[in-house]
Amino acid sequence: MSNKKILVVEDEAIVAEDIASRLERMGYMITDIVASGEEAIISAITTPPDLVLMDIMLQGKIDGITAATQIYKTVKRPVVYLTAYGDEDTLQRAKSSGSFGYLLKPFHERELRATIEIALSRHQVETDIQQALDLAQVLRQQAETQSQLKSQYISLASHEFRNPLTNIKAWAQLLQRYGHTWSSEKQQQSLERIQVAAEQMNQLLEDISTLGRTDLIKSRFNPVPVDFVAFCQNLIQIHQMMVGETYKLTLTYEENCDRNTIALDETLLGYLLNNLLSNAIKYSPQGGEVALKLFCQESEIYLQVQDQGIGIPPSDLPQVFEPFQRASNVGTIPGTGLGLVIVKRVVELHGGRIEVESLEGTGTTFTVTLPKL
Ligand code: ATP
Ligand code: MG
Repeated sequence: MSNKKILVVEDEAIVAEDIASRLERMGYMITDIVASGEEAIISAITTPPDLVLMDIMLQGKIDGITAATQIYKTVKRPVVYLTAYGDEDTLQRAKSSGSFGYLLKPFHERELRATIEIALSRHQVETDIQQALDLAQVLRQQAETQSQLKSQYISLASHEFRNPLTNIKAWAQLLQRYGHTWSSEKQQQSLERIQVAAEQMNQLLEDISTLGRTDLIKSRFNPVPVDFVAFCQNLIQIHQMMVGETYKLTLTYEENCDRNTIALDETLLGYLLNNLLSNAIKYSPQGGEVALKLFCQESEIYLQVQDQGIGIPPSDLPQVFEPFQRASNVGTIPGTGLGLVIVKRVVELHGGRIEVESLEGTGTTFTVTLPKL
């Protein structure tokens, strides 16, 4: 028994009943018997059959071929035509409407069954192929997104190479130039800084080689209680040593910043502050003050980086956190437009937010708000 459901469209009631009972004898189920193309469309939508047996010449405004085309478009059901006239024109129209079979009246039960079964299996094959094609399309899109994520990841990772590299270079230069005048303790300290920076690069390299983890920053998120005042002091010192006297880097913080109760991911906090500080320095080519300010409240901490640099034109402000977006006033100052993307991701991972205020030619303030975890 086939159990397949068939809609019979035939405007001669006696013929329709006859076909329906023959079909039932063959084991098919009848969803409906209708006499016009319009009714056929409605019936196919409300009670979708597996196949439509359609008379071509019908009463009403539309003929069987038009109805079949509409049915195939909306509910994707195969149609087998029945007709008493075998004229070439009709045959041609039926063919071009993508029909699944064609029977000339009168027909034998055998022919009817064979035509229906062939139409059903052809439709099944076509559906399977379409599904496979759709799946292939989805997989291709997924692969494309993956590869985009990977190249974005590589850009971000290589961006983060720059900070430790700059540190290594700066410390090595300082050692070479002034090392002989330094105490052995200071020499030791600068060597340690070089080692720390090298270790950071090593870590990044490991990340890149495990590309399966598509999101560098996410895979690294590990918040622990941090003495973030000391952490910031250290960062400010390092940057100050690298930029020399044209800049005055300052750190201020409120006494109520309870040093050890705030959980932060130190590596990520480093990415965040290094990017904000190096922007503040880079976009203040005349030098000046770069201030890092910490404020603490009961449930949140605020980190503010303020400079007196070139500022950001109002029309560029909304885009600065987008990848590869640089303001129109950067001139020859180098950059790729990725630093703030990293900053924003870090802030989001901590469940915080970031705001920027800027006045062109006067200066810029980035304020990061982080919840106390
Ligand atoms: P890099 O990838 O090397 O960091 P970048 O500094 O250009 O390049 P972002 O740090 O993402 O990229 O900053 C995006 C843009 O925002 C900058 O190109 C610059 O136009 C603007 N910008 C960011 N910080 C400041 C700042 N402190 N003062 C002025 N403009 C800034
Ligand atoms: Mg930058």
